[in-house]
Amino acid sequence: MLKVTVWNENRHEQKDPLVQEIYPEGIHGAIAGFLKEEPFEVKTATLDEPEHGLTDDVLLGTDVLVWWGHLAHHEVSDAIVEKVKQRVLDGMGLIILHSGHFSKIFKVLMGTSCDLKWREAGEKERIWIVDPSHPIVEGLGEYIELEKEEMYGEHFDIPAPDQLLMVSWFEGGEVFRSGCTYQRGKGKTFYFRPGHETYPTYHHKDIQRVIRNAVKWAKPTELPKPIYGNAKPLEEIKASK
Ligand code: ZN
Repeated sequence: MLKVTVWNENRHEQKDPLVQEIYPEGIHGAIAGFLKEEPFEVKTATLDEPEHGLTDDVLLGTDVLVWWGHLAHHEVSDAIVEKVKQRVLDGMGLIILHSGHFSKIFKVLMGTSCDLKWREAGEKERIWIVDPSHPIVEGLGEYIELEKEEMYGEHFDIPAPDQLLMVSWFEGGEVFRSGCTYQRGKGKTFYFRPGHETYPTYHHKDIQRVIRNAVKWAKPTELPKPIYGNAKPLEEIKASK
């Protein structure tokens, strides 16, 4: 069974009554809840746990890690970020949600600032599917509509995605690359934009579908470890003339 760990910094939930009302079990609890509808083994981990809940045992036992952070990116220890990065390079899937664009792990995997424009105006977002062939968008319509969301606008300072699956339009006029895949080492990473803490975005069926599909897509590939370094020839090499 696919092993999924949902990581959340869990700070808005402790201080903002509106966020507590929308996500009484935390954003991690809401995401874990709908992931459990799949045949996944789902755990949660949060910033304030020892080692942020991401001990070696947890990381080694995780096939796909889902990440939500915002206020406290700087409180995530560099040592843990390095371990998560190594697991990604070794094949663990990583789903980065919303304000996770500024997490240490996403920035180190991207190598760019990951900066963007933003605005909290409770505006409409329409997320257009621009790659209907991709398994992450399976079961969706032409677009997902969210009545109220935070705006993220271009330019989004990321490397060109391996695959661009979704583009958001916002009521205020901006657009944004909202669904981006990246291969890093043997691991697959997916960035998915929506999910501001003061809107019920993770209760939306289509948003849940994308995250469930993304977890399935990002699962590690079962292959022997590649062998690196100096290599003996497989065939006899005839001396060059
Ligand atoms: Zn936000």
